Amino acid sequence: MKALVYEGPGQKAWKDVPDPTIQDPRDVIVKIDTTTICGTDLHILKGDVPAVTPGRILGHEGVGTVTETGSGVTNFKAGDKVILSCVSADGSCSFCKDGLYSHCTGSEGQSGIGWIFGHLIDGTQAEYVRVPYADTSMYILPEGVSAEHGVLLSDIFPTGFEMGVQYGQTKPGDVVAVIGAGPVGLAVISTAGLYGAAKIIAVDLDQNRVDQARRFGATHGVNSGDSDWKEQIMSQTDGWGVDVAVEAVGIPRTFEMCTEIVRPGGNVANVGVHGKPVSLELDRLWIENIDISMGLVNTDTLSMLLKLMAEGKLPAEEFISHRYPLDDVMTAYDTFSRAAETNALKVILTAS
Ligand SMILES: [Zn+2]
Repeated sequence: MKALVYEGPGQKAWKDVPDPTIQDPRDVIVKIDTTTICGTDLHILKGDVPAVTPGRILGHEGVGTVTETGSGVTNFKAGDKVILSCVSADGSCSFCKDGLYSHCTGSEGQSGIGWIFGHLIDGTQAEYVRVPYADTSMYILPEGVSAEHGVLLSDIFPTGFEMGVQYGQTKPGDVVAVIGAGPVGLAVISTAGLYGAAKIIAVDLDQNRVDQARRFGATHGVNSGDSDWKEQIMSQTDGWGVDVAVEAVGIPRTFEMCTEIVRPGGNVANVGVHGKPVSLELDRLWIENIDISMGLVNTDTLSMLLKLMAEGKLPAEEFISHRYPLDDVMTAYDTFSRAAETNALKVILTAS
């Protein structure tokens, strides 16, 4: 089969590799129908994730068709259309039993991390993928939800909702500010209303992103390049700051911005993938009664979000900016990596 293979920092190739095979009775093989590229894949390509070694097939999002099942698989059969979770959970380890699927210890060498696709095992940017723990890590794609929309549930919708909205403890009436209006920030914006946010403020340096965030549910927009960006945000509150400040960029400055706009008693929810340490002004913040959260998505809300998507209650179509055939994945990477110029959000790859 053909697959997108990481060949060391800055290098990748769409090339022939051996087809995946069942290695454990809990495995299935899935023919990928639709996949996409995540900002995390770009971090990997920069060499920011050293656990990814040359030769690894990238990608952790996908919708496909089951072609083969291991002898221990009971919930799926060949021909089923499925959504793959970016988190592989065995459902039986101590973390899984606590609902912390993101830290599944499994038996795939994941050492306490459930995100293994395109990381510790071969991923979904390929014609076929081996899915471990299939019974507890895949979801049937219902009639009426397209593969293109379903693939948004592999990672970005659950990540935005769980790490931004839920970890941020969003409640009815809250003012929520989301710093970073890329795909995951927009997933926070488009799900914050589920918990009753009164105002959702999109904050970004790119005015195009600030403007388009309104299509995803933002009620206000602030360009963080403006000298009075902070005053603009504060003017949408009672003067004391936002209830929930969500970081969806992954750099020190945007995290600090969150700590500057959160009200006493509020929440800072980090969603961004950081590559550098961030300083925390504890000398100022210790007295503020704020909670700071962070983490890797569990995807335990995937089925709930799928029900909303099936009823047209998530702005799925708005996330899709580009479409390519799967074997044009190199062009798709180029488009996605130049998002500031191409206005790329989710770049959808579909197999022929
Ligand atoms: Zn587990």
